[in-house]
Order: sequence, then structure tokens, then C-alpha cells
Amino acid sequence: MKAAARFFAELAWIDGRWQRDVLLHVDACGQWGQLLPDQACPPDAQRLAGPVLPSLVNAHSHAFQRAFAGLAERRETEQDDFWSWRDRMYGVALRITPAQLKAIAGQLYRELLQGGYTQVCEFHYLHHCEDGSRYDDELAMAWALAEAAEEVGIGLTLLPVLYAHAGFAQPALRADQRRFATDAAWVWQASQRINAAARPLLNAGVALHSLRAAHASDIRSLQALVGDTDLPIHIHISEQQAEVQDCLAATGQRPMAYLCNEFAPDARWQLVHATHSTPQEIEQVAASGAGIVICPGTEANLGDGLCDLPGWLGLGVPISLGSDSHVTRDWVQELRWLEYGQRLGLQQRNVAAQPQSEPSTAVRLFEACRAGSAVPAGLPRWGLQPGARADFLVLDRLASGLQGLPDAALMDGLVFATQTNAIAQVYVSGQCRLDLGAAAAMPDPAGSFLATMQALHGKA
Ligand code: ZN
Repeated sequence: MKAAARFFAELAWIDGRWQRDVLLHVDACGQWGQLLPDQACPPDAQRLAGPVLPSLVNAHSHAFQRAFAGLAERRETEQDDFWSWRDRMYGVALRITPAQLKAIAGQLYRELLQGGYTQVCEFHYLHHCEDGSRYDDELAMAWALAEAAEEVGIGLTLLPVLYAHAGFAQPALRADQRRFATDAAWVWQASQRINAAARPLLNAGVALHSLRAAHASDIRSLQALVGDTDLPIHIHISEQQAEVQDCLAATGQRPMAYLCNEFAPDARWQLVHATHSTPQEIEQVAASGAGIVICPGTEANLGDGLCDLPGWLGLGVPISLGSDSHVTRDWVQELRWLEYGQRLGLQQRNVAAQPQSEPSTAVRLFEACRAGSAVPAGLPRWGLQPGARADFLVLDRLASGLQGLPDAALMDGLVFATQTNAIAQVYVSGQCRLDLGAAAAMPDPAGSFLATMQALHGKA
């Protein structure tokens, strides 16, 4: 049992805005108690060195792909797209051992903490031995991920994946997919075992790889096993145009329409990517209560396409972020990519902002992703609110891009103007897990830049 603690922050992000002089209580379970603005700092409270922001959940990760980042940026064939990238990625996936996976995930999870995530959802399909046979403990690869997360101190939601077919019209897997082979019963039992382990900061949900890899009978079998439990259910969907065309050919319906019409997804469901949609599909998903997980860095890297961000935001569909293949590992960059993709595609500015309700682009995107963080991770709540896990980030106000900004512009400055990581400390469950001190600060020895900014914009 940890000791309860009190922190004091001159600025803390509560209820979607900066509040001043906040006393933050953490209970003995590492959850937030009372969060009280406009207080004096009591002597026993730990004064935090900068603005306090909630961390975010990274809702989509394949940790092993971290070992492949930077190794697929050469065009060696005439055609280079998602599918050729996938063939090269499989070449790495087929060689990774549990010990190697733990090493890769350990590095990745430290980087994700530094990037402002304190919980990661592992869409985990690399289950079996290199030759496709089973490990003595069939969850050896899952435990490798769990051990890495535990050592780093990041929260982990393991999502064992049902992966049974190579395509819509194919009964079996390809030879190079042999490490992924599972059925609904295997996935359900894996999820049960992980939750029964009751390890700190570890929980489990379930996942279906995609509509091409999990056919109707697989989906129905897993739905029957999950029943009315509150486990999150993740699925890759509509990432690629070829998948949309294959789904149309096989079912007569587009992927999200097919999912909604045939399987009645609900708020537990997380639709990863959801890149290629029609307005009708967005309406159907919105009506279902399901959320979407956008992975802007990976979607850009793989040439997937741009999602209909105004459409999803407009209907209030829950949104979270994922770093997926891990070419990008911090949420500031993901939000920047997300908005810039929209600006380039639509030839407009501030696409995500809403002049009447939320004119700040960064605030609207951040708040959407914060509000959408809990459900994909199977957690009851997320952010600076009583009962949520006491996870938070301490920003370095002297980081390049934040110096001299008025409080009201801090979030926009963070997302659009920083050029180094502006996160100085990362706390998980009330405990400091990463302390970079003032490493991000930019020197301004004479204070002349700060004085100029204050003259132009007011004193923060
Ligand atoms: Zn993925």
C-alpha cells in the first residue's frame, strides 16, 4: 500500500481548462481524491515545478514493430504500399523471441512515458514460437510485454488478438502468419488468465485482428464468450482501400456498415484507424456508441489516407490515439500530424476547432482524446478527476515553444510550436516514473525573449 500524498500546482488542467493554485490529493490506492483550486500551498504538499496536464492513453500499440521503425523507408520495388510494408514487417516478426520482445517493449514503454502516455493498449498477436508451435506457457510473449511494462511503470492493457484467416475469402492463414494463429476460445482464455494474474497496472481486453482475419463465425463466438462483461473489444477496420473493396466483394457492404449491421457493436468496441468511411457509416458508429482509435503517425507513414476528422468530431464519436507501428511515440506529434493532415487535405486552418464551443484546436483535440482514453484501456475514468488513477505530466514552461506564452495559449503552443519534448516529469499512480528535469528548457540568459513575449502578449 502506498502512502497518500498531496501535490500543489500553480496551473492544473481540470474540466477542460487551466485552473490556478490547485491542491491535488492522491489516496493510498494511487487514485485522485479531492482536486481543489484556489488554495495556498500547505507545507506538507509537494510543489510541482510546472503546469500539470493529464497524460493520455496510447490506445493502439504493436510493441514488436518498434524494432522495425526506420527500416522500411527505402523503395526497393516499383509498388510500395501498406501490403509490401507488411511483408517486410513479417520478416522481423517471425524472428523475435520472448526475451527480445521484452527488451524492445522496455525501450518503447520508456519512450511512450517520455511522450506523455501512461497507459498503453497492446494489440497483441505475436503469440507463438517462430515455427508456429506453442510455447510451454502459451502466454510467454504476453508475459514478456507485462514484465517490460511493470519494470518501466507504465499501465498496460493487453488485448490478445483473434487472428484466423489470411483474407475475406481465405479459410486459413499464410505460412508467414503462423505465429498469430488463434481462435475465440484461445483469446478468451488468454484474457481471463491475464486478468486473473492481478498484477499491478495490468488488465486485459480482447481484440479481433480485422474483418479479413476474423470471419463472422469467429466474431460471434468471441462475442458470446465476452457476453456482457465490460472488457474492451478492439478491431482494425477500414485502414486500407483494398480492405474496403474486399469487404464489399465478400459481404456487399463497406467494413463499418457491415460491422454495425451484423454484429451490433456497443461502447466497448474500439475501431482502430476507421480511415475510409462514408457519412452513413459515421452515423452508424456514432449511434452504436463505439469509439475510434486514430494513429496519425503510422497512417501517414503507411500511406493509409486521411480520416474524416470533422465528421467524427461533429457527431461526438469517442476518439483516442494510438502509435501503432511506433514511428511516432509522443502524443504531441500525433495531434500535430492529425490536424496538419486535415489542413493539407482540406486547404483550411484549425479544422478540429469549433468557433462556438472550443476555438482552440489543441484543446479540442486533447480533450476529445482525454475523454476517449478510459474505455479502450478498460478503465473507469481518465484525467484529473476524483477516482481516476493519479497519472499526470509536469510541463517545462521554459521549453522551446512554451516560453513567454500566455496561459490560454499553452495547449496550442505545446501541440503546434514545441520542437523538443516539453514534458519534464511523468507520474503514474501518484509516483514519479520519469524525471527529465529541465532538460527541455531553452536558454534565454538575458531574459530578453521572455520580456519581449510578455510585452507583446501579457505576463503569464
Ligand atoms: Zn495496428
